[in-house]
Amino acid sequence: MSKSGCLYLNDELEKYSKTLGIDLFGVADLSSAENFVTRQGGEHVGGFPRAISLGIRLIDDVIDQLISHQDHVAIASYRGVYDAANQALDRASLMMAKKVQDQGYNAYPIPASSMLKNGNFEAVFSHKVAANLSGLGWIGKNCLLITPQYGPRVRLASVLTDAPLQTGTPLTNRCGKCTQCVDICPSRAITGVAFSPDEPRNVRLNAQRCDDYTTERMEVFGNANCGLCVHICPYGRNSRGK
Ligand code: SF4
Ligand code: SF4
Repeated sequence: MSKSGCLYLNDELEKYSKTLGIDLFGVADLSSAENFVTRQGGEHVGGFPRAISLGIRLIDDVIDQLISHQDHVAIASYRGVYDAANQALDRASLMMAKKVQDQGYNAYPIPASSMLKNGNFEAVFSHKVAANLSGLGWIGKNCLLITPQYGPRVRLASVLTDAPLQTGTPLTNRCGKCTQCVDICPSRAITGVAFSPDEPRNVRLNAQRCDDYTTERMEVFGNANCGLCVHICPYGRNSRGK
């Protein structure tokens, strides 16, 4: 397909994503992450050259209230918004995959939440890596995707594809000297080390500590993490009005 044909398909899919309630749309070239993607998701998943990244912005007022992370109402609202965003993303990625398939290409939707049961807190596919490669944001010290518009106040899903789409350019990390997510984490799970694609996640995040803290709270608050690392990021707190 010619470059103008690729751009036409990108535009068409981005416009379609808006009709599905998607706030952020990007396309990642996965070639630099092929080994990582294959290790996580296996040969089929690792065989796709590109991923369409889809993001839904969370609700600011709910995330703002997470400063009261011991409050039942605040956590129940957070869990509700988080689950509803995941459901909306799962439907959107299905519809997007159908649209791509109708154009004659392969498409493989990956749900918003797809944890492997391997004890390593890993997903089938890293939506964050795809969103980073597609140019939607960078991976922050809290190991979340940080978007310039909404900080980490987003949920993500992906559609793997071989459609000849124009891919984005990764954003450079803008965390700088900020350590707000490190300082606020009650379980001391975030180490403060900046993201590097060559280092494993455990250099930056002790996922077991976060999980232990979430489990401790489970009896009172159900299965919802405290969300303070989402709440505190200045890129999200300054996003109102965007
Ligand atoms: S969810 Fe809470 S405990 Fe887990 S990393 Fe974020 S701030 Fe720390
Ligand atoms: S709180 Fe600061 S260090 Fe943490 S992800 Fe946001 S900008 Fe980066």
